[in-house]
Amino acid sequence: MRDTLVLNASFEPLSTVTLNRAVVLVLQDKAVVEQAHPELRMRGAAVDIPAPRVIRLCRYVRVPFRRRAPWSRRGVLVRDRHRCAYCGRRATTVDHVVPRSLGGQDTWLNTVASCAEDNHRKADRTPEQAGMPLLREPYEPTPADAMLLALARDEFEALPEWLALDAA
Ligand SMILES: [Zn+2]
Repeated sequence: MRDTLVLNASFEPLSTVTLNRAVVLVLQDKAVVEQAHPELRMRGAAVDIPAPRVIRLCRYVRVPFRRRAPWSRRGVLVRDRHRCAYCGRRATTVDHVVPRSLGGQDTWLNTVASCAEDNHRKADRTPEQAGMPLLREPYEPTPADAMLLALARDEFEALPEWLALDAA
C-alpha cells in the first residue's frame, strides 16, 4: 500500500498515512487532496475520487510538544496496521516481546501486534525461546504520528473494506 503525505493546514509536512486512511480523512472533510496520483482512483459504492498522494488537514493541529507518544494497546495495533509481527496476518491482540512474567514492560519497544494464535503459541517466552522471530522491529511513533493516529481514531477500526484501489 502506498503512503500519503499529510500536511498541516499551514502546509507544513506532518507525517505519512496509508492511502486508505488518507481517503477516510478526505471523505470526512478533515482533509483536502493537494496532489493526486495521476492514474489511480479510489472507487467504492458511493465514492470515486483520485487516490491522494498529498493531503492537507482542513484545521491546523498543534502537534503536542512532548518527547514521547503515550503507549496504548490500541496504539500498538494501529502502529503495526493490525498485522501480526510473527506471521503477517491480521492481528487483534498485543504481544509483549519480553513477557511480563520476565519483567517485560508496557512500552512501544516491547509490544507488537499479534494474531491470537501466535500470541497463545508464544506464551511466556521471548521470540528467541519460542523460535518465533519478529518480522519487523517495534518502534516508538513520533508525537506527530500519534496525533495522526488519534485524528482517524474512530474510523480506523471500521476502515471501509469496500474501498478499492483501481487504475483509472
Ligand atoms: Zn500471527
